[in-house]
Amino acid sequence: MTKKNNLPLRDSCDRKLTDLRISLIDQCNFRCSYCMPKEIFGKDYQFLPKKELLSFEEIKFLSNAFVNLGVEKLRLTGGEPLLRKNIPELIYDLKKLKTFRGDNVEVTLTTNGFLLQQFTSSLKKSGLDRVTISLDALDENIFQEMIGGKYSPKIVLSGINAAINEGLSVKVNMVVKKGVNHNQIIPMADYFRTRNIQLRFIEFMDVGNSNQWDAKHVLPSEEVVKLLNRKFGVSKVGRKTASEVAEVWNYSGGGTFGTISSVSKPFCKNCSRARLSSDGLLYTCLFSSVGYDLKKYIREANFAQSDEELAGNKRVLVEKLIQRVWDSRKDRYSEQRLTYKPKISERKIEMSYIGG
Ligand code: SAM
Ligand code: SF4
Ligand code: SF4
Repeated sequence: MTKKNNLPLRDSCDRKLTDLRISLIDQCNFRCSYCMPKEIFGKDYQFLPKKELLSFEEIKFLSNAFVNLGVEKLRLTGGEPLLRKNIPELIYDLKKLKTFRGDNVEVTLTTNGFLLQQFTSSLKKSGLDRVTISLDALDENIFQEMIGGKYSPKIVLSGINAAINEGLSVKVNMVVKKGVNHNQIIPMADYFRTRNIQLRFIEFMDVGNSNQWDAKHVLPSEEVVKLLNRKFGVSKVGRKTASEVAEVWNYSGGGTFGTISSVSKPFCKNCSRARLSSDGLLYTCLFSSVGYDLKKYIREANFAQSDEELAGNKRVLVEKLIQRVWDSRKDRYSEQRLTYKPKISERKIEMSYIGG
């Protein structure tokens, strides 16, 4: 058992392990061009069989192990997490976990918002700390081009309204693809600024192997900030903590927005995030090609012991493995992007599989 004063774990570059992103499912009802382009994720695409997905019991077991090792924030993501049934029940149980400081674990959810409206009341009751909703455009045609489907952005906006009315804390993510939705920056900023909801502009990233990433489609955050400054006047606030992904800015008339600049201004040096895929593999970077199979340890360990002993032994095993993996972590892909030359055998994991 790791002693409290050695927590949280630190990797070989002295980075803490405080955040765990849990992908609940690799499937999604959208086909965003930057994540699951429909040409690749078509009707023949082989998603994970249901039996390979971690059950809620397994997710709780693994979350408990991570929290024992110093994790303080859990983010549920996917694919589209709201496609899994009974998410509020899972959140309710995860919220019972206590950090090594004795606080409640923070539990957040990232969703495309399509199914949000029907769940806001149960999500609020579950104790969810925040919901982040992805929305890339207000204009219907541009929205459809971004999500690769025929839905209306009004459905997502209704989900956002319902979440706000329910008293949930809300943020909105917008991936900016130059030449596709960059003309939505001002309308989106204006819409959310006047409603006092924080909108975060995300640079289009080269995650996975399918999204045809090209640097010419990246609009650096600096350009976004210049645009917003000309229109509204802005001033920099910065990061709340060093490991936050977003830099925060104030509009001069009130309200805030964020910029997530993993291409133009990488933030690997304070990266405190581990990721658990929906089939139970641990990844230490969004751009990894290798994961560590934790599910194997919890499904296959077969001791002739009582349930309690068995659970205790599995937890020790899993915690040791997590500790070993994090100890040796060296990832800093975004800082090395321009010089990184992958071997042919190295295929990055897909964003929809590992979760954003
Ligand atoms: N389906 C949910 C959603 O869209 O919010 C959760 C999973 S999605 C993979 C998580 C986040 O990753 C979303 O905010 C999405 O916009 C972001 N994302 C996906 N692909 C991206 C890319 N290539 N570059 C930047 N952000 C990306
Ligand atoms: Fe689905 Fe989210 Fe990926 Fe879009 S970004 S395809 S909504 S998982
Ligand atoms: Fe963290 Fe990897 Fe992203 Fe760098 S590239 S910030 S190490 S997830």
